[in-house]
Amino acid sequence: MNETASLRARAEIDLAALRANVRVLRERAAGAQLMAVLKSDAYGHGAVPCARAAREAGAAWLGTATPQEAFALRAAGLDGRIMCWLWTPGGPWREAIEADVDVSVSGMWALREVVAAAAAAGRPARIQLKADTGLGRNGCQPVDWPELVAEARAAERTGRVRVTGLWSHFACADEPGHPSIAAQLGVFRDMVAYAEKEGVEPEVRHMANSPATLTLPESHFDLVRTGIAMYGVSPSPELGEPADFGLRPVMTLAASLALVKDVPAGHGISYGHHYTTPAGTTLGLVPVGYADGVPRHASGRGPVLVDGKVRTVAGRVAMDQFVVDLGGDRPEPGADAVLFGPGDRGEPSVEDWAVAAGTIGYEIVTRIGARVPRVYVDEAAGAAEGAAR
Ligand SMILES: *Cc1c(COP(=O)(O)O)cnc(C)c1O
Repeated sequence: MNETASLRARAEIDLAALRANVRVLRERAAGAQLMAVLKSDAYGHGAVPCARAAREAGAAWLGTATPQEAFALRAAGLDGRIMCWLWTPGGPWREAIEADVDVSVSGMWALREVVAAAAAAGRPARIQLKADTGLGRNGCQPVDWPELVAEARAAERTGRVRVTGLWSHFACADEPGHPSIAAQLGVFRDMVAYAEKEGVEPEVRHMANSPATLTLPESHFDLVRTGIAMYGVSPSPELGEPADFGLRPVMTLAASLALVKDVPAGHGISYGHHYTTPAGTTLGLVPVGYADGVPRHASGRGPVLVDGKVRTVAGRVAMDQFVVDLGGDRPEPGADAVLFGPGDRGEPSVEDWAVAAGTIGYEIVTRIGARVPRVYVDEAAGAAEGAAR
C-alpha cells in the first residue's frame, strides 16, 4: 500500500471488476460465446492480466487487432481460441498458423497469402471471412463476396484452410435506432446465407461490439466481441452510464501531489498563462501530463479529485504535469489526486474526461501512457477464484 502510494502516478486495474463485467456481458448475451477484445494493450489496461481475468470469467475467445498482439498472449501462456483481424501484405501469416491463431481475411490478397503460408507450414490455417456490411472500413464488399467465398471453399477442399467464422462490424451500434443498424444486419444475414449455401460451415458468426451486445440481442449470433464495456466504460453517453448496465469501471488513474504552495492573486498558471489566480490561493501540482495520456485538450476543463473536492485543471496540461487551484486547502504533498475511477470516493469518471477533452472514453483509457505503471488489484482473489473452479 505504501509502495503504491509513493508512486508518482499509477493506473490501478481492478481485475475483480473486469471479471464481474465479463460475467454481466455473458449474461446479456446468453446463448452466445464472448470474445474479450484485448487490442492496444487491453485499451491501456494491460493485455496479459486482463486476458487471464477474462478467461477466468468465461471468455471463450480472445481478440486482438494485430498479429503481434495475439502472439504476445500466446507467449504469455494463454491457450484456447485467439483471433486477430488487422493484416497487411506480408503477414506474418505462417507464425499465426503455427501459433494456432484464427486470422481474418477481408479480400483476395489476404486469402492468397494465407493459403501459401499454410502450404509452407504444412498445416491448415483457420480463417474467418470478414464482410463489409456497411461500415466501409475493413471487410469484403457484397459484390466481391462470391469470389472470396468460392476461393475460400476451393482452399478448404485442398485442406489448406478451414473457414471457422463469418463476421462483420457495426458502424453505428452506439446510436440505437440508427437506420444503418438494421441495414447492416440484413446484409450480414444475406452474406452468411450465401456462404453457407456455398458449403461454408462456420463455427461462429459474429457482429456485435459492446454497444450491440448491450442493446441489440438480434446481433448476438454465436459470439459477441466486447471491448470497452468489459473495461467498465460506457460505449457512449447516450447509451447510459456503466452502472446502468451493471458494469464497473476497471481503471483508476491517480497521481501523488508533487507540491502544494501558496500564491498571490493575479498569478499566471502554466504555459501561456491561460489561468490566472483570482485571489490569493493554494496550488497543487499534479505530476502527470500529456506524455502520460492526460489530454492537452482537457486544459482548463479536466476534473480531478483532491482532498475530497473535485478541482479543475488550471491552465494548460503540460507534458509531465498540470496544476489545480486548491482554493486555500492545504493537503500534504503526496496526497492522492484521482483523475478518474469508479466513483466510490466521488472521483470523476472516464466519461467526464472524455467530455472535457471532446473525445470518447475509449481514447481516454487507451492513451494512458507506458510511463504510468499499472497496479493490479485483486489479482490474488482472481487466482484463487480461478483455482477454485
Ligand atoms: C475494437 C473492436 C471491437 C470491440 O469494440 P467495443 O466497442 O470496444 O466493444 C469489436 N470488433 C472489432 C472488429 C474491433 O475492432
